[in-house]
Amino acid sequence: MPSGSENVGSGPGPEGRERPVRSAPLNLNEDRFDRLRRIRGWDQERLARAKVLLVGAGALGNEILKNLALVGVGRVFIVDPDRIENSNLSRSVLYRESDEGRPKAEAAARAAKSIYPALRAVGQVGRVPEDVGLGVFRWADVVLAGLDSREARLAVNRGSALTGKTWIDGAIEVFNGVARVFRPSSGPCYECTMNRTDWEMVERRRACSLLTRDEMLEGKVPTTPTMASIVGALQSEQAIRFLHGMETIEGKGLVLNGSAHDHYVVEYPRKPDCCGHEWWESVTVLEGGAGTCRAGDLLEQARSDLGGDAVLEFREDLISALTCDSCGEREPRFTALGRIREREAKCPKCAAPRRPEAYHTIEGSEPFLDRPLAELGVPPFDVVAARSDGRHRAYELGGDRERVLGEAL
Ligand SMILES: [Zn+2]
Ligand SMILES: [Zn+2]
Repeated sequence: MPSGSENVGSGPGPEGRERPVRSAPLNLNEDRFDRLRRIRGWDQERLARAKVLLVGAGALGNEILKNLALVGVGRVFIVDPDRIENSNLSRSVLYRESDEGRPKAEAAARAAKSIYPALRAVGQVGRVPEDVGLGVFRWADVVLAGLDSREARLAVNRGSALTGKTWIDGAIEVFNGVARVFRPSSGPCYECTMNRTDWEMVERRRACSLLTRDEMLEGKVPTTPTMASIVGALQSEQAIRFLHGMETIEGKGLVLNGSAHDHYVVEYPRKPDCCGHEWWESVTVLEGGAGTCRAGDLLEQARSDLGGDAVLEFREDLISALTCDSCGEREPRFTALGRIREREAKCPKCAAPRRPEAYHTIEGSEPFLDRPLAELGVPPFDVVAARSDGRHRAYELGGDRERVLGEAL
């Protein structure tokens, strides 16, 4: 029996004939995924085992997560720093008025589970890269992003590169959109696609002190639910294909020009001098977590593995103090540079902008070696690299795994 003839309700069928109205209730025992299993090459069990990292639970993230839940993807980790506002409701299929004020990551996880109760979904309120450890990238089979800033895409690109993952980007603006697939460890990456204007936009988001400008935090790009739905669907489809081991548009972008009713594929060349392709060949999983592993202990381990001149190399800049060059006030402050906003960096004494004392390596002479990595601003379940003489080794803070992923994942 062709699947279309089972639809409930009347109306002309594909051949124009009236179909009988089905009065009996839907058979709830009917296999939920029956219509999907009929697709040649479809592997429902594979999807059930799949682990997806979704960065961004805005308009695109909503569409992606809805699709992942509908097709029966097993596990999703959702990251988003924001809370739901009324203006999200016109473009976000998973949110309701009663969700206003709730964290998007959590509301999205809950709504997706209501679509597919067997879905194991965990939401983390936070930002990539400073709040999300790369252990989460290593855990995932594929990374999907629904982001509205180049900075966030750069962070997802770096995280995916270092951990050898494929990531699927989507971008929408008014009636235009693009979906693209990157595997930085072997093909072109997001950075390869960036031109000078893109880099200028990234620079503009940083103040002279390298702090993120307050007013730049929120991207308010005009978008429609229809374009979010189309691009989110393309991303989901690419993810489903990737999880099945089918061909994807890896290294390419599918561009939609809604105003001109046009769509086309662009192929991205890999830039020979691009810095976005470094990746870790071997990662040692530690028993400790960011809260217990002290910087000095990790440096010691790196030195026993790589040699006495090894240094720890953080993927993001960290700071140890905010210093005022006008009045000389110095406040010790340990966190990731990305977490300090320009407003906070104002000197409490003289209101001049303070300078963050930033570093991204630990070489053994620092006065804060006895501090746990978490106190320095390293997120839980992160991966910290060490380097010596061109040799690298990376260490995953495996002790945080359960706390971050939760029992569900
Ligand atoms: Zn690149
Ligand atoms: Zn001052």
